[in-house]
Amino acid sequence: MARGDGMLSHDLLPGEKGPQDSCGVFGVFAPGEEVAKLTYYGLYALQHRGQESAGIAASDGEQIMVYKDMGLVSQVFDESALSSLTGHIAVGHARYSTTGGSFWSNAQPTLGPRPDGTVALAHNGNLVNTGELVDLLLERNGGRNPDKGEISRGNTTDTALVTALLDNGDSLEDALRELMGHLRGAYCFTLMDEDTLYAARDPQGIRPLVLGRLERGWVVASETAALDICGASFVREVAPGEMITIDAQGLRSQQVLEPRPKGCVFEYVYLARPDTEIAGRSVNASRVEMGRQLAREHPVEADLVIPTPESGTPAAIGYAQESGIPYGQGMVKNAYVGRTFIQPSQTIRQLGIRLKLNPLKEIIAGKRLVVIDDSVVRGNTQRQVVRMLREAGAAEVHVRISSPPVRWPCYYGIDFASRAELIANGLGPEEIARSLGADSLGYISEDGMVAATEQPREALCTACFSGEYPVPLPDPTVLGKSVLEARRDDQRAALSDASHAPVRQETATA
Ligand code: SF4
Repeated sequence: MARGDGMLSHDLLPGEKGPQDSCGVFGVFAPGEEVAKLTYYGLYALQHRGQESAGIAASDGEQIMVYKDMGLVSQVFDESALSSLTGHIAVGHARYSTTGGSFWSNAQPTLGPRPDGTVALAHNGNLVNTGELVDLLLERNGGRNPDKGEISRGNTTDTALVTALLDNGDSLEDALRELMGHLRGAYCFTLMDEDTLYAARDPQGIRPLVLGRLERGWVVASETAALDICGASFVREVAPGEMITIDAQGLRSQQVLEPRPKGCVFEYVYLARPDTEIAGRSVNASRVEMGRQLAREHPVEADLVIPTPESGTPAAIGYAQESGIPYGQGMVKNAYVGRTFIQPSQTIRQLGIRLKLNPLKEIIAGKRLVVIDDSVVRGNTQRQVVRMLREAGAAEVHVRISSPPVRWPCYYGIDFASRAELIANGLGPEEIARSLGADSLGYISEDGMVAATEQPREALCTACFSGEYPVPLPDPTVLGKSVLEARRDDQRAALSDASHAPVRQETATA
């Protein structure tokens, strides 16, 4: 059971999560280095991408050891856990669940048998053809689920499915290359067998994955910020559709699938760390530019620009720079309340956002405010922020959002609300402003957001704003977080029916 340590989480309201990333992955091949510690710090830098569970697998060339648990990286690992993970290869994972529930058996890296040894796999992203992959696994196993590996022990993630499908072929390299042709959706993998580290990225390159160089080895990580923390220098992005193999002979690259880049635009808006670079563009610079563009598109007479801390900060700086309205800090975020694991009492719960944010009354009172946030999902957070600012004496509250209205769910690894829960689905900006209690509301345009990333529009996924999904989606009944749990229940029901059949037969005979 995870221990509360008061570490920061993204969530401003209990039960009102912002967009949640699916995961952070890390991999290292570095003889002579303490690879488990490098992975620990790499995951520490990627903690914002997943806070439900964390794990590291390490190999000394002979044997793979895995250590994983529910909770934050700092809660899961201590010195003795890390010292048990010896060797020169490691992969690590910080999880937010998008396929399969949030419980221990679904934590990563997943471990699976191979004809020539073992595979440990860490996955960022979400596959959309999980149903087809279940069928492929059943077909390869004579119609049965495997009786070994994590699937047989109740793991219900698309990652466990991929791990089971890698029990195939002469080498893990062959198995991965073959399997990439079957996978649809978003995947950045770091994986290893006893003596080799691999990385692979889907042909759309939806989630980021980068390659770094250590003096004595190589690092692969979800974000450049994770290279920085362990002293690795950035080499390049892992290309969409590429597989990388790193062993004692060095690094080899194969372009397994034709690249069709569709990087997630929401990484620039909110998901990635501001000190990360994606496709050569600083995330912080993108956010500042989004704020500038927002000021050009939605100007307003006001006295002060303030961010919703901390994710709205770069865009608020940009808005202030462009509009000439002074920038100020109007709210303080309590960094040490976030993840206490203690349910708030009813009195505390009613204070809502005050658990996390407190207004600076002397700065706010009597001012016409522009409040900058990165996105609106359900709107509950912004409604509470607006109310809190008015109670603190704000004369006017104008809300400006540095992404367009979120109207569609993400199936590639980001957990928004369902379509029905998205406030922009059915309401226009004026109605939403009324619902939030704001004097006005302005969203950046899709063109403005895309231009701020400095990426070609055709190289970005914007599906949660536009509804144009770059990887075709199957029937809605085989999509969603619980798709594998549902399949398992169906199979159990079928097995149960089958096991009852002879009884009915006997009864009939009798
Ligand atoms: S749907 Fe939105 S969050 Fe999901 S990958 Fe596309 S742009 Fe990113």
